[in-house]
Amino acid sequence: MDIEFSQEDLAFQVKVQDFIKQNLPKGMEMWTKRAEWFQAMRDQGGWDIAKWPVEFGGPGFTPTQRYIFDMEMARNSTPPQIPFGVGMLAPILMNYGTKAQQDRFLPGIRDGSVNWCQGYSEPGAGSDLANLQTRAELSADGTYYTVNGQKTWTTLAHIAHWMFCLTRTQSTGVKQEGITFLLIPMNDPGVEIKPIITLGGSHSVNDVFLTDVKVPVDNRIGEEGKGWTYAKGLLIHERTGLAGIQNSVLGLAKARKNAMSVKVGAGTLMDVPAFRNKVGALEAELLALEFTELRSLASVASGGNPGPESSIMKLKGTEIQQRVSELNLEAAGIYAAAWGAAAGPDFARGATSAYLGTRATTIFGGASEVQKDVIAKNVLGLG
Ligand SMILES: Cc1cc2nc3c(=O)[nH]c(=O)nc-3n(C[C@H](O)[C@H](O)[C@H](O)COP(=O)(O)OP(=O)(O)OC[C@H]3O[C@@H](n4cnc5c(N)ncnc54)[C@H](O)[C@@H]3O)c2cc1C
Repeated sequence: MDIEFSQEDLAFQVKVQDFIKQNLPKGMEMWTKRAEWFQAMRDQGGWDIAKWPVEFGGPGFTPTQRYIFDMEMARNSTPPQIPFGVGMLAPILMNYGTKAQQDRFLPGIRDGSVNWCQGYSEPGAGSDLANLQTRAELSADGTYYTVNGQKTWTTLAHIAHWMFCLTRTQSTGVKQEGITFLLIPMNDPGVEIKPIITLGGSHSVNDVFLTDVKVPVDNRIGEEGKGWTYAKGLLIHERTGLAGIQNSVLGLAKARKNAMSVKVGAGTLMDVPAFRNKVGALEAELLALEFTELRSLASVASGGNPGPESSIMKLKGTEIQQRVSELNLEAAGIYAAAWGAAAGPDFARGATSAYLGTRATTIFGGASEVQKDVIAKNVLGLG
């Protein structure tokens, strides 16, 4: 694919840049005027749902426009959207949900008024997700399920209104065939949330205990026992989203700038060959990943879904995120030990928490070893 932009693409880039200049709230207003920002995006004709198909209100960007759009948004650190609804559940509703489910759930996902969390992992079911044990039993009159079990590592469960959840409706036969995909309201009295505090000292993940939670059959996506198919489709969207390529491009440029501000002898850290080599190698790998993303976008634009190449993007994208954070940690030197206190250069403040935070990226959304298995089987055709 040609990475030189056409005149039309360059004009589109200027349009996006102008829009951001005129509409992006400054400083702390980024948080207080978040709603206005997303409204302005919506008024542009679906820019708030850039990845959604046109029939669901999306803007119909070409792959190159999508790439430019994402890059400009990342470059300007625009407010992020919580991905669970807009990026993960929405495509599943569009592909497998009924019209009634689409009408009921997509508007709240789009305007951000309804938060979602992902109830996949359990204490004995992470990489081996099909081993999940949370039970859903259909009532005798066939109108609701009673759900019992435990989910773990559930990101943002504590602010979620709903959880999309994998449950077991059949315990015999092939593990993958007895799984049912349910939408569970978090305000049910049988839902209990306990925080898990992670390495960096923050609270974003939780244990979620489900005790006799009643879920109407209307909240089931697709057929009973076919949840594995829908779950896998969702994981592909999740993995593509987790690559974070545009953020890494931006992060790497910042890391280079940070290193140039650190004095070493008569020069800067960027003049030290060992450090410079690491930056160069990362730039080359990131460029290769950008081309993989463009290929994937092109296949989606021509009617396909993101395929197993999403595992390449997840694997490499998350490794690169970690390595960018390592460059900043190295550039911060001893000041990184101050952990957020004001010491040394400004960028040193967040270096340690970013470094620790990115350790999780090669675990969530499917650990790196699991991505390598997927690539071996489905991309390279081994085994
Ligand atoms: C910060 C964070 C947020 C998360 N958010 C969510 C969320 O919102 N919702 C949700 O459902 N889950 C979430 N998860 C869970 C995440 O998806 C799992 O942690 C992940 O799938 C790995 O599962 P596990 O932790 O059970 O590790 P295990 O599956 O027990 O793996 C342990 C180790 O064994 C390796 N391993 C396992 N199987 C194989 C194999 N076949 N071949 C080679 N090596 C293997 C793994 O790579 C890993 O190194 C989150 C996790 C983290 C850390």
